[in-house]
Amino acid sequence: MSSDEEDNAHGHMIVWPLERLGRVMRAREHEGGLNPAQWEALRFLARANRFSDSPSALTRYLGATKGTISQTLMALERKGYIAKAARAGGRKSLRLSLTEKGREALSRDPWADIARSIDALGGKTRRRLHRGLDEVLDAELKRADLASFGVCTTCRFFREKGSTGQTPGPHFCMLFEDGLTEQDSVLICIAHAAAH
Ligand code: SF4
Repeated sequence: MSSDEEDNAHGHMIVWPLERLGRVMRAREHEGGLNPAQWEALRFLARANRFSDSPSALTRYLGATKGTISQTLMALERKGYIAKAARAGGRKSLRLSLTEKGREALSRDPWADIARSIDALGGKTRRRLHRGLDEVLDAELKRADLASFGVCTTCRFFREKGSTGQTPGPHFCMLFEDGLTEQDSVLICIAHAAAH
């Protein structure tokens, strides 16, 4: 991008492609027997950690009503994309997980095409886009008073290599007082609190 183009890259010039992209992708999310809300639920379950794989966490993540989420989950279960199970320790909330069919559906996620287009951008452009979008999303989540759902590595309760030889490990969550694997540490969490 030339310096002239950079000077003209005002907010409204960037909002326009974002808005259009959102609309184009919503239309594509009606392909393959799913709808946009069902795609969002499948993506959430692929990214959520074990403290966040519940209907109530999904409700908070999407900022939707309980009724809408319940209908979405019922449809996904009926079609065989997700499974519900009781939570260990007799806790009331259900545990949601993707079935093989759910995982296979995600390999056809229309947003994967956007990820590939972004991968094709230069490294510097990609890093700037990542940082800029993160900042805009963060500001909007604060304005709407929605939970951040960030990953452990950016959370104030995360203690790197803090799990003193126990399983899971090597990391530790001070809030849930439980160990975290390397893989856990890059999943999203309902209780995430940004480290400052
Ligand atoms: S460290 Fe933070 S993000 Fe990770 S499990 Fe604990 S509360 Fe959740």
